[in-house]
Amino acid sequence: MRRKLVAGNWKMNGGLAANAALIADVKAGLAAAGAQADVAVCVPSPYLAQVQAAVAGSALALGAQDVSAHANGAYTGEVSGAMLAEFACKYAIVGHSERRAYHGETDAVVAAKAVAALKSGLTPIVCVGETLDEREAGQTDVVVGRQVDAVLTVLDAADVEKIVVAYEPVWAIGTGKTATPEMAQDVHAKLRGKLSAKNAAAAAKVQILYGGSMKPDNAKELLAMSDIDGGLIGGAALKAVDFLAIVQAAQGN
Ligand code: PEP
Repeated sequence: MRRKLVAGNWKMNGGLAANAALIADVKAGLAAAGAQADVAVCVPSPYLAQVQAAVAGSALALGAQDVSAHANGAYTGEVSGAMLAEFACKYAIVGHSERRAYHGETDAVVAAKAVAALKSGLTPIVCVGETLDEREAGQTDVVVGRQVDAVLTVLDAADVEKIVVAYEPVWAIGTGKTATPEMAQDVHAKLRGKLSAKNAAAAAKVQILYGGSMKPDNAKELLAMSDIDGGLIGGAALKAVDFLAIVQAAQGN
């Protein structure tokens, strides 16, 4: 039985005072609910030190929203995996659709970032997902298959169990539209099939998250599907009560 993972993606939101309040509320809620699911927050880089200190000793893990493909050097603005590890990051999101769309990240760049994260002992949360046009053209399986294959190609088979995959249909991110549980399950099962072709034993262990307008009112149904092992949560991760309700839904399955 895979443990569920609920990971918040704060995106470019937050501030010192708001972060302190949000983390305090989430920690209090988690302490009351018990930790039967893995829970993490992926925060903007300037707040890593603040949130590292705030989550110390709690069940809440820390993650970054991106990681450089490079180890160090003349890459202005980038943050390396080793730097993230110094702040006790456990996770690094790679290939979020906003990075692919606004920063031109290709499948090859995303794959290199996943490898860089692993080299620094971080768990990459590898995001894949189709646009609305691609779904309507019947290309969903081809697109997400290509995106996940790009990463699997460069991974050692033994490392497959060290990644998390997040299926995030682009048309569902921040839009209030959600894939139905059946639509998401169909893609998740196919993604697990891809992982399985590389390493069957590892594939059974990999957490495959759904992301795209997951909210307290739809989380339970999505998380009840056999291949949906948690959520990557954007908007709802900014409100402790909503984030905790999704954690609760994950713990109930
Ligand atoms: C995300 O940014 O990864 C995401 C899923 O956002 P939202 O939950 O707001 O759709």
